[in-house]
Amino acid sequence: MSDPPPKRRLRMTRQRRVILEELKKLKAHPTADEVYEVVRERLPRISLSTVYRDLETLCEWGKVRLLEVGCAKKHFDYDTRDHYHVRCARCGRVENLPVEPFTYLEQAFRDLTDYEVTGHKLELIGICPECKRKEEEEKKSKEEAP
Ligand SMILES: [Zn+2]
Ligand SMILES: [Zn+2]
Repeated sequence: MSDPPPKRRLRMTRQRRVILEELKKLKAHPTADEVYEVVRERLPRISLSTVYRDLETLCEWGKVRLLEVGCAKKHFDYDTRDHYHVRCARCGRVENLPVEPFTYLEQAFRDLTDYEVTGHKLELIGICPECKRKEEEEKKSKEEAP
């Protein structure tokens, strides 16, 4: 086996620091477009593709996590610790679940596979409170219509 490529040195430019700060402030799991919208207010000359590239670099360095959720757009996560997510099937928002990872799951599955289990992922899918409220309002207005 060949040696892995040498890790690129972390160069925390002001631009990257701003991106990281804004991502932290957003607290949610924004897409690159959403990060771009807020970063642009502080760095008016930045482009979407630059934000995108910087986010990917920050992911490589482990400063940011790329969410592997089942939706078309990439979402980024400032919280790099292991945690679970819940995703809205309507609007695509992703939120953290307020529970510690169930490490016993790995223990339970260890006996069922010849793999050396090193981790697991869990994503719940549902309809967020906001989308639920909107749907109920729409239903109501349809019922009220003549
Ligand atoms: Zn929603
Ligand atoms: Zn998260």
